[in-house]
Amino acid sequence: MRLIGLCCALAVAVIAPGALLAQDGGQDASKSVAPKVMVAAAKKPVPSKKKVAAKPAGPPAKELFGAARTPAAMAARSIGFYAKGCLAGAAALPIDGVAWQAMRLSRNRNWGHPALIALVEKLATDAREHDGWPGLLIGDLSQPRGGPMLTGHASHQVGLDADIWLTPMPDRRLTEKEREDLSATSMLAEDKVSVDPKVWTNAHVRLLKRAASYPSVERIFVHPAIKKALCEATAKDSERAWLHKVRAYWGHYYHFHVRIGCPKGSTNCEAQPPLPSDDGCGKELTDWLALVKPKTPSPVKPGTPAVSKPGITLDQLPSDCRAVLANGSEGLIPAPPLAAKAAAGSKTATPAKVDKNGATTK
Ligand SMILES: [Zn+2]
Repeated sequence: MRLIGLCCALAVAVIAPGALLAQDGGQDASKSVAPKVMVAAAKKPVPSKKKVAAKPAGPPAKELFGAARTPAAMAARSIGFYAKGCLAGAAALPIDGVAWQAMRLSRNRNWGHPALIALVEKLATDAREHDGWPGLLIGDLSQPRGGPMLTGHASHQVGLDADIWLTPMPDRRLTEKEREDLSATSMLAEDKVSVDPKVWTNAHVRLLKRAASYPSVERIFVHPAIKKALCEATAKDSERAWLHKVRAYWGHYYHFHVRIGCPKGSTNCEAQPPLPSDDGCGKELTDWLALVKPKTPSPVKPGTPAVSKPGITLDQLPSDCRAVLANGSEGLIPAPPLAAKAAAGSKTATPAKVDKNGATTK
């Protein structure tokens, strides 16, 4: 099985097939859209008498943020919402740490709010020290200035989301090429609604429990089959409160997605709606499993034309994101209106959202 890009599409708040989602802008490239979102999406296009808003000028924000190679030298601040925002003063996760290695270095997405970087490092070292987990392989965090991405992910925009592989770290340093090419391991069994006991272990349970144990972590997204495995593995445990933060979502069987809350000082950071109060092992899980169960021999979700979405423009992000982009001398300041229009004209040729690994994201 091939993996892909380890990304996540999450956006949001999640949760139940039926309960959820807020504000995301949708899944990313992925196509996986939580039920609620689909409903919302279906509603939107209904023509109404609403005036059509003026067409936003300028290139898609993902092109601008995707071109930023360095962080904005400003005080660290997560600005906006997980799926619609940006990041000032990002810190880089070192590509090698005592208990982690960053993957897919060419993407330059090992950036995050310093609080997220500290969390990832702590999880890596704690899990190795206490949980028998040899170290973390780290997938995407955010771009140097956050913001929308050209490929993958609807969220990961404000430096508070991290994708962590469910593949244990090898006991050697991977080469740069290996970090590009190595495929993550799917945890799913053939039936796609349970985990494969040949690859899923108790150490995975301990790792996810560890990740959920930190107060700053608000959500962890995993595939419904993994959520089921966690519910079953802990059925007799007296301490199960941590399961509350771990919610089922599309994708996320090669990696899990850790999301921390708005850090102190990020005054324009928009919090997520609270999770349902239950542990997510009941009806919510049953519904999710029904959703992900393969219906026909066409397991791959049909490629909806997500690819044609132009994406939001800088004007549609929180206004502070303009300063984040303009900081320094990278020449990232958005083009003036005329040039911007010309650029917009060529955007149909913009790269599709399938990521370089062939991923459709998750
Ligand atoms: Zn993710």
